[in-house]
Amino acid sequence: MKKLFAQLRLLLLPAAAAFMPSPCAAQIDTAVFSLLSLDRPGMERVAALHDAGDDEAAAAELLHYFRRRSGVTTPFVDTVNIAITDEERRWADEGMEHRFFVHTGYQPSFHYGDDIDWQYWPVHDNELRWQLHRMKWWAPMGKRFRETGDERYAREWMAQYLDWMRKNPLTAYHRSENIELETADNVYFAWRPLEVSDRLEFQIHQFLYFLPALDAGFLTHFLVNYHRHAEHITGHFSKQGNHLLFEAQRLVFAGVFFPEFRDAAQWRARGAEILGREIGVQVYDDGMQYELDPHYHLESINIFYNALRMMTANGYRDELPDGYLDKVRSMVEILYNISFPDYTNPMFGDAKQHDRDFLLPSYRAWAEVFGDDAMVLRMATEGREGSVPDYLSRAFRTSGFYVLRSGWDGGATQMTLKAGPPAFWHNQPDNGTFELWHRGRNFFPDSGSYVYAGSREINELRQWFRRTRVHNTLTLDGRDLERTDSHCLAWSTGGKSDVAAVENPSYDSLTHRRWVFFVERRFFVIVDEAYGPAEGSVELNYNFIEGAELAADGSAATSFPDGNNILVRVFSDSPLAVQEREGWVSRSYRSRSERLSAAWKAAKGGDPVRFITVILPVDDASAHSVEARLRGEFDPHGVAADVKVDGRRYKLRYNL
Ligand code: CA
Repeated sequence: MKKLFAQLRLLLLPAAAAFMPSPCAAQIDTAVFSLLSLDRPGMERVAALHDAGDDEAAAAELLHYFRRRSGVTTPFVDTVNIAITDEERRWADEGMEHRFFVHTGYQPSFHYGDDIDWQYWPVHDNELRWQLHRMKWWAPMGKRFRETGDERYAREWMAQYLDWMRKNPLTAYHRSENIELETADNVYFAWRPLEVSDRLEFQIHQFLYFLPALDAGFLTHFLVNYHRHAEHITGHFSKQGNHLLFEAQRLVFAGVFFPEFRDAAQWRARGAEILGREIGVQVYDDGMQYELDPHYHLESINIFYNALRMMTANGYRDELPDGYLDKVRSMVEILYNISFPDYTNPMFGDAKQHDRDFLLPSYRAWAEVFGDDAMVLRMATEGREGSVPDYLSRAFRTSGFYVLRSGWDGGATQMTLKAGPPAFWHNQPDNGTFELWHRGRNFFPDSGSYVYAGSREINELRQWFRRTRVHNTLTLDGRDLERTDSHCLAWSTGGKSDVAAVENPSYDSLTHRRWVFFVERRFFVIVDEAYGPAEGSVELNYNFIEGAELAADGSAATSFPDGNNILVRVFSDSPLAVQEREGWVSRSYRSRSERLSAAWKAAKGGDPVRFITVILPVDDASAHSVEARLRGEFDPHGVAADVKVDGRRYKLRYNL
């Protein structure tokens, strides 16, 4: 090993030196031969040379083998038609200078030193430290190499790759949820199984892009390192959640793409077995992934779908269980239901806001298999083909998503309400919250997540965005919900109006019941009932789009000059006070903007406290009037209310 590193040092030149003529090739790692099935067709010469003791020549022959190899394919890399964005060009070129693109939340990229410091941690956000080890600039460097033919990209990639191997050895790694990352060994960042799995997937891309420029010595190190990655995953799977799914999917990729490894079939089988099992565990019968986060739901669809594509492309589709495809289909179906007509998603849980450009490649890929779903086809073709579903509003009761919509196009009004079962890490205590979209504008964007985890400062920022009261739901004394386990009391969408009713045992001593009436599919009336022995302050929290303002009469409204606005009024049968508070919305990591956040408060003794809210889409809020009152006392068997909008009366009633 010493001799190897002496030679590797030659490769570990500062960035400027990387532009000099090629340093000498890496010595071979003979361990590679024991990892490969040398009796595989096509490997005869490799085997013969290895048996004859000429491993140098065997390694050269191995490189030759991979350059000629056929029968293995990946639908995810096209080395002929290189698709590269300007952003990827920048990541690649900055990567050549060791300014590494690690995270969109931390731009411009940091410089990691002429002699790369893989432990550099300029901001103690765990994601910044972990995601460095995904080397997101490497595949773009491969594309630049293909695009320009400039071998400096390949030489620099090989140098950085070997530098990373040398400085980030896999030492003892114990899987634990309780590692103190501020003081943890580097191995817990560089070899976290999620990062390892990411590298398993994208080193396939790098391998294919750089294959014409590889030298045989490097190839042997690459393969030994890749094998170590796959084996590390098999011994350190995450317990649950999207991490486990990613790890399984990428182990499948490793097994399918490098069948030359003796362990490849086992990796493939293990990954497929986990995916086949977890699609039953992690995906509810209504299609939603159990973290209840639209972003990780999308990620999960692509995990299951991409594994399916990879296995299908290489003839292993039969190894996935019956029902797998239908489950993925249902995941796509719930996604287009809960998303808005402009492709954007509610930012529930840790979700970021995705847009059309982000979603289109996924829909286009899904349409290849689910093109018989007319809505998938419509989304994939931006409306040129396909058609909208033959229904409007829809409840997904198991996962607790209720979609109330007037249409599917840009002129529609749509509320997506979230009131589901307990969920996992990326979920937040937000039961009863909603986003409301009208004619292209989201009037109640979720606060988002802003950051994930890290030092105390980072965790406090995260905590701000995940707390209950920054969601559009009801709290007791401003506290986070103690329990998040909503169930459906009522759902009706047959007539002119929709009704949804959900209930959450929010606190030990207080239950929150929320009724949503989508009256004539034109405006919303929300009735909130807080009952139980609790005494204290009950708050009804609303968090608005930037620019919304609170008026002296306690109403809230927007005043966009394009005439696409809302008017919100809250009433109660208890005395009401309204209080404006700090409000933020974060649509992407580490970015946020100020917005109106307000709580309508009522004091609660032993009796229930009730609120009634009217949300009216308007052209000009000052030109409209709204009144509402609850009829009768709190009734566990139903609700009744009188609402007056611009002089017209509506009698709302629902009996359970
Ligand atoms: Ca949230």
